[in-house]
Amino acid sequence: MVKYIFVTGGVLSSVGKGILTSSIGKMLQARGLKVTVVKIDPYVNVDAGTMNPYMHGEVFVTDDGGETDLDLGWYERFLDLSLKQENNVTTGLVYKTVIEKERRGDFLGRCVQIVPHVTNEIKHRLKTVAKTSNADVTLTEVGGTVGDIEGLPFLEAIRQMRLEEGFENTLYVHVALVPVLDVTNEMKTKPLQHSVNELRRIGIQPDTIVARSPTMIDAEALRKIALFGTIPETAVFCSYNAKSVYQVPLILDKQGMGDFICQRLGYNCTTKDFQEWQQFVDAAVHPEHEVKVALVGKYAGLTDSYVSMSEALRHGGAACKTNVCISYLEAEKLEQDPECVKDLGNFDGVFVPYGFGPRGTEGKIAGVKFARENDMPFLGICYGFQLAVVEFARNVCGLKDANSTEINPSSPHPVIDLMPEQRGVEYKGATMRLGAHKVVLEPGTLAYSLYQREEVYERHRHRFEVNLDYMEILKKNGLCFSGKSTDGRRMETLELPNKYFFFASQFHGEFKSRPGRPSPEYYGFISACLNKKMGKAKPVFR
Ligand code: GLN
Repeated sequence: MVKYIFVTGGVLSSVGKGILTSSIGKMLQARGLKVTVVKIDPYVNVDAGTMNPYMHGEVFVTDDGGETDLDLGWYERFLDLSLKQENNVTTGLVYKTVIEKERRGDFLGRCVQIVPHVTNEIKHRLKTVAKTSNADVTLTEVGGTVGDIEGLPFLEAIRQMRLEEGFENTLYVHVALVPVLDVTNEMKTKPLQHSVNELRRIGIQPDTIVARSPTMIDAEALRKIALFGTIPETAVFCSYNAKSVYQVPLILDKQGMGDFICQRLGYNCTTKDFQEWQQFVDAAVHPEHEVKVALVGKYAGLTDSYVSMSEALRHGGAACKTNVCISYLEAEKLEQDPECVKDLGNFDGVFVPYGFGPRGTEGKIAGVKFARENDMPFLGICYGFQLAVVEFARNVCGLKDANSTEINPSSPHPVIDLMPEQRGVEYKGATMRLGAHKVVLEPGTLAYSLYQREEVYERHRHRFEVNLDYMEILKKNGLCFSGKSTDGRRMETLELPNKYFFFASQFHGEFKSRPGRPSPEYYGFISACLNKKMGKAKPVFR
C-alpha cells in the first residue's frame, strides 16, 4: 500500500518547507524506504519556466526537461532522485487539464466545479506519481502558506486523500515559524497556534508539528504547541538554525521524528543508516580550507536565483574539505566601474552563471576577460559559456563587436546565435532546448579528465548556441571545444588548455550535483581554486 505524507506551512513562507520535506524523505530513506516527492505550487503559471528568477528563485530543470520549482532541486540533492515534470503540480497545470477535458466533452452535461473536478484532478496527479514511481511513501509539499486563497483546492484535495487512502496511510505534517521576541527573549507560539487553527478550519488536523525557530524550542513552547495543536508532546519537533541545511535530517532524527513517522505509518524499521550522509555533513561543517569565489550575475540580489549553482560549488568544496565563500556580484556594477573588475583579483576564482537578456552582460564579459588575462580559475555555465566565447572572439581573435544575437541582433560577428529549431518559436513556455542530452567528450581534454568518460548526460536550458561559422577562427586561436552533441554540431564544453583552469559548459552540471558526488565541472573548479591559492601546480584530474 502506498503511503502519503503531506507537508503544509504556516505563519509565513520561506520557513524551509522544502528542506523539511527533503529531510523527512531522508529519514525514511535511511530506514530503507523508497520515497518520491511532489511539489504543489498554487500559482496560476503552468510551470516555473516563465517566472523571473529574481522574484521566485531559480528554475530547476529535470532530466525530462521540466522547468520546475527550485524545491525539486532540494529533493533531488537530499534524496538523490531524478524527478520528472509530473513531480511539480501547479494551479495552472491542473486547470489547464480540467479545461481541456471540459472542451473535449469529458464532463458532458455536468457543471464543472472546483470540488469535485479540480480536486479530483489534483488527487489523480498525486496518485499517478505514487504509482509510477513505485515508492513506499509519496511526500507532497504544499507551497505557500495555509490560509492563502490559491492553496485552498489543494488543501481540500489532501484532506480528501485521508478519506480515500485511510488514516494509517496518510500523515499530515505542519511546519510554522516560532519567532523569538528580542525584547523578552521569549519564544512565541501564538502565530503557530493560529496557523494550526486555520488548517483545522479547512478540516485537517496535523499529526505532527515542526516548529521552525532560531534555536531549539524550550519546554514551555513545546508544551503549548502540543496542547493547542491537540497532539502529544512526542509529536512536536523543532527545526532550528543549522550551519548547513544538510544537517536538518540529522537534527530531526535525533529528536525522534524518523521513528515517530515510521511508527505512525506502521513501518517496523529497526535500523537506520546515515553513515554516508554524516560523512558529507562532517566535511561540509568542518572544512580545513577556504576559497573565495566571485559569482558575477544578473540576479545577484537574490541568492535563491543561483541555489543549485551555489550548492554544486559547496558539494565541490566538501569533496576537498573546503569552505566555499561565494560573493554575489552584480554584473552591471562591473560594467560601470573598472575598479569592481580589478577587485576580482581578491578572489580565488571567477564564476559566471546562467542568464537571459542583455542586462549585465558586458560586466560578465569583463569578468571573463579578467579571469583569462590573469589566469584565474574560471567556470562558466550556459550564458557564462556563451559569453566566454564572445570574450575570446573579441579579445583574442580580434573580432570587433562580436556578440550573441540575444544581446545585439545586428552584431557584425554573431558568434552565438539562435538555434535553428528556435526560429519561428513564438510561445515562451517550455520551448527552449530543455533537459538531459548526450554530450560526447574528447579524450585527452580537461573535460574528459573531469568526467572520466566519453559520454555524459547533462541538463540544458537554452535557445542560443555557438555559431559554427566561427569555429575555425576560434579554434585557430586556441579555444578548444572539448564536448559536443552527438552529431558534433552543437558545442557543449570549452576550455583553454594552457590556462590553469578555464572551463565552461553550455549545459548545467549543477542540476545533477549531489552531496558526496559533486558535479565534475564544479569539483574541478573548486579544487583548481584551492590548488592555485596554495601555490600548487595545475591540478590533474583522474
Ligand atoms: N540566454 C541564453 C540562451 O538562451 C543562456 C541561457 C542560460 O544561461 N540558461 O541560450
